[in-house]
Amino acid sequence: MSHATQTRPLEIACPQCRKTVTWTDDNPFRPFCSKRCRLLDLGAWADGSHRIAGEPAMDETDLDALLARADRDGEPA
Ligand SMILES: [Zn+2]
Repeated sequence: MSHATQTRPLEIACPQCRKTVTWTDDNPFRPFCSKRCRLLDLGAWADGSHRIAGEPAMDETDLDALLARADRDGEPA
């Protein structure tokens, strides 16, 4: 990892929950505040819930399954 010159971290709003996110190398989930929010966003698309009206949004059980799968698969750092 490189040590870029940083005088002040960039702050953005999480696209999912609008929480303030500090954009740093320490946050692999940017622009989201957490893995949870990132998966919620990805899951919404993969799930097709954007086009299915009347279907309930992803609930906590689905999210936990997604998180478990992501943890098991891992991803390139
Ligand atoms: Zn968030």
